[in-house]
Order: sequence, then structure tokens, then C-alpha cells
Amino acid sequence: MNTRQPRQCSEKTRDGSPCGAPREFVDPDTGLCPAHSPGGTDRLRDAGRKGAAATAKKLRGGGLDPDELPSLDSPQAAAVWLEAIGRAVACGRLANRDAVAATKAVREWLRAHEAGTVAEQVTELRQKVEELKKGAQLEVVK
Ligand SMILES: [Zn+2]
Repeated sequence: MNTRQPRQCSEKTRDGSPCGAPREFVDPDTGLCPAHSPGGTDRLRDAGRKGAAATAKKLRGGGLDPDELPSLDSPQAAAVWLEAIGRAVACGRLANRDAVAATKAVREWLRAHEAGTVAEQVTELRQKVEELKKGAQLEVVK
């Protein structure tokens, strides 16, 4: 358990005055605030970027909740996705360009699914043709 009291950051600002970071942010082991800790400037810049991205997302309407979207594994699931996307756009939760991107992803999935289904059907039909050929040869032998 750390019983040391928080103290002021031991660094100084550019103008030479003591760092004014709140004491609760100062690491008791190093005596430095997050900004003056090694790598602190980069870390704070990253945190700022993440905060800005989160705020931008909030302003855009928050988007779709992943729970609203089932696994995209069937045309029925694709229909649920499209319904959720349309609903989110209509309710202002999804920006137009995000809706376009999400709809495009669903369309591409459907295209890939259809291509996979057609390929399976072709394989099945080929097997049936081969079986029919064998059956026909056997009948010739008889
Ligand atoms: Zn400091």
C-alpha cells in the first residue's frame, strides 16, 4: 500500500514557474505529472486524439450498437443489417457516408455469398453429371 502523500510535480513550465499539475495526477514514485513523465507529451497527444475521435463519433450520432447487428452469415442477416442501417440513418444515429460504407459492405458480402453458392451448385452438378456418366457406362456394359 502506498501511503505517500501526493506532491507537486518537480518539473517547471517553459517560463520557469513550477508545474501546476493537480497533485492527484503526480506519480508518487517519480514525482512527475503525466505530461512531464518520460514519453508524456506523446501520450497526452494520443489521449487528445482519442478524445477528439470519441467526441466526433458522439457528434455524428454514435453509430450502430454492435448488438443490433447479427453475424453477417446469411441473406436474412444481411436484411437485418440493411434494416438497422436504414433505421439508424433515419434516426440520425448514422452519418450518410457511414451508411453508404456499411451498405456497400453488406452488398459485397451478398455478392461473395452468391458467388460461393453458385460455385457450390456447379460442384454439385458436376458430381451428378459424373455419377450419371458412370451409370450410363454400366448400362452399356450390361
Ligand atoms: Zn509536471
